[in-house]
Amino acid sequence: MPTPERFVSLVVQKYGGSSVADAESIKRVARRIVGTKQSGVEVAVVVSAMGDTTDDLLDLAQQVSPSPAGREMDMLLTAGERISMALLAMAIYDQGEEARSYTGSQAGMLTTSSHGRAQIIDVTPGRLRTALDENAIPVLAGFQGVSPDTKDVTTLGRGGSDTTAVALAAALGADVCEIYTDVDGVFTSDPRSVPKASKLTAVTYEEMLELAAAGAKVLHIRCVEYARRQNLPIHVRSSFSDREGTWVLSSEAVAELVERGEMEEPIISGVAHDLTEAKLTVVGVPDKPGEAAEIFEVISTVGANLDMIVQNVSTDGRTDITLTLSGSDADAAMAALREAQPAIGFTDILFDPGIAKVSLVGAGMRRHPGVSATFFRALAEAGINVEMISTSEIRISVVCRAEDAPRATAAVHSAFGLDSDETAIVYAGTGR
Ligand code: ASP
Ligand code: MG
Repeated sequence: MPTPERFVSLVVQKYGGSSVADAESIKRVARRIVGTKQSGVEVAVVVSAMGDTTDDLLDLAQQVSPSPAGREMDMLLTAGERISMALLAMAIYDQGEEARSYTGSQAGMLTTSSHGRAQIIDVTPGRLRTALDENAIPVLAGFQGVSPDTKDVTTLGRGGSDTTAVALAAALGADVCEIYTDVDGVFTSDPRSVPKASKLTAVTYEEMLELAAAGAKVLHIRCVEYARRQNLPIHVRSSFSDREGTWVLSSEAVAELVERGEMEEPIISGVAHDLTEAKLTVVGVPDKPGEAAEIFEVISTVGANLDMIVQNVSTDGRTDITLTLSGSDADAAMAALREAQPAIGFTDILFDPGIAKVSLVGAGMRRHPGVSATFFRALAEAGINVEMISTSEIRISVVCRAEDAPRATAAVHSAFGLDSDETAIVYAGTGR
């Protein structure tokens, strides 16, 4: 793989919360940044809130108000990144380089106005470009922006600093976006629950998107979408070691690595599970044209994030529709459906929060027969009951009981020969 030193003139480095969890870590990261700069590479930095700050702020908000206003929530949460950006800039000064910290709004991160899930619509990084031109290191607060419509501060959703970093890298024309985390790269499963997970040399944008959607927490999904659109290489690596991490690249670039013998042709890139979804069944839906449209229109009014959708065989002119959705959207979706129940005419809604989704992802599935058979056999032998199934071209997912998810994941990981001889190192972080 082309190492950064070989082709990079401008790099954006993003440091996650566990990499800047305390004063010592902030100084260590500052040394790393200054080292990069002094090796002759222009560097701009994006930083997350220290350690579990965001979760702590969320907990605190809950204690003050059960359903805080989105605007105030974003004001609160963006404070986390303001703390780390200023501290990091100070530490960089002490290492002998000039640094300037910026909030998302100061740095021209323009977003939609939806609080807690804003999308970046434009980046106008003039001030950061000027800082670079004046030989200073810009340090940008991750996960936040400002809406040009409402003039209010927004956040991009949990884990959004990755997206900030890729958007900034694209806007500055960086050669690579380095995402620093507390493990050595992207693994075939979360090393926190599968210690025998193997590190991937490279993975395609498409596979990474599927992994992120399947619950792999290593990269924010929008960040991967953004990088794919811009064909921007991402290098996921640890801020605690100097090891080469995992490259996230186009499928052409990955094929080139395979051709050059720098990695084996991958069939499966990973197994992930997601505990954040809930299952909702709309029972006794009249089996006639337009009913599904009405149901999904109602759900869409609350902006719920849907995943799987299954309609059962109908009996006596009625059918059931089961769907999975983000657990945090479930209450709102159910309330909207109950209100529409008399008009739509279904008989009941069943709610099941105790589910997990277990997914197998790999571009090689397209070419290799028997992948589904191995997957379902592994689940069967682990005694896992499958409640729903859905697939894409490069993914198979099942819904099972939440408590079975770790066992299911480990069983599938072993069945595909993904277990490594080494134990993956988790350097820091609570994985919260
Ligand atoms: N601090 C935010 C979070 O914990 C954003 C991020 O870390 O990317 O979700
Ligand atoms: Mg974080």
